[in-house]
Amino acid sequence: MSGVAVITEACIGVKDRACVDVCPVQCIYEFNPTTNRLFSEQQAGSGVIENEHAPNPAAVEIFGDSILYVNLDECTSCTACYAPDVCPVGAIYSDDALPDGTAGIKYNKTDPNTGHDHRFFLQHSRDVFAD
Ligand code: SF4
Ligand code: SF4
Repeated sequence: MSGVAVITEACIGVKDRACVDVCPVQCIYEFNPTTNRLFSEQQAGSGVIENEHAPNPAAVEIFGDSILYVNLDECTSCTACYAPDVCPVGAIYSDDALPDGTAGIKYNKTDPNTGHDHRFFLQHSRDVFAD
């Protein structure tokens, strides 16, 4: 589906969960290393888990619990999380506007990684979910 959300490297170590609170389908996940599960909440920090998945160990170990992950099979392309001013660091892109590092490509204005090729995170979003 076109328009699915991709979280990229600016989220690493920030992870303030603003995107979680605007997602209507709870498809933005955190990794819990203690339970070895990916989980989503309707409201970040509520402790009420809405959905869970098993992680792919090789993929999830790359960033672990330092970043959030969108399940692309569940994302409805609603656009809420990549609307301007949701993510404080401009980490979220629509997959059809994912910057590839070439000159002239549009980046989110607060993304500190302007100029980088962000396409890795599209495949990584798919790889991290094992079920
Ligand atoms: S709003 Fe941005 S920085 Fe915050 S958790 Fe979501 S992707 Fe990460
Ligand atoms: S585009 Fe909508 S459904 Fe997809 S992750 Fe963002 S808020 Fe959730």
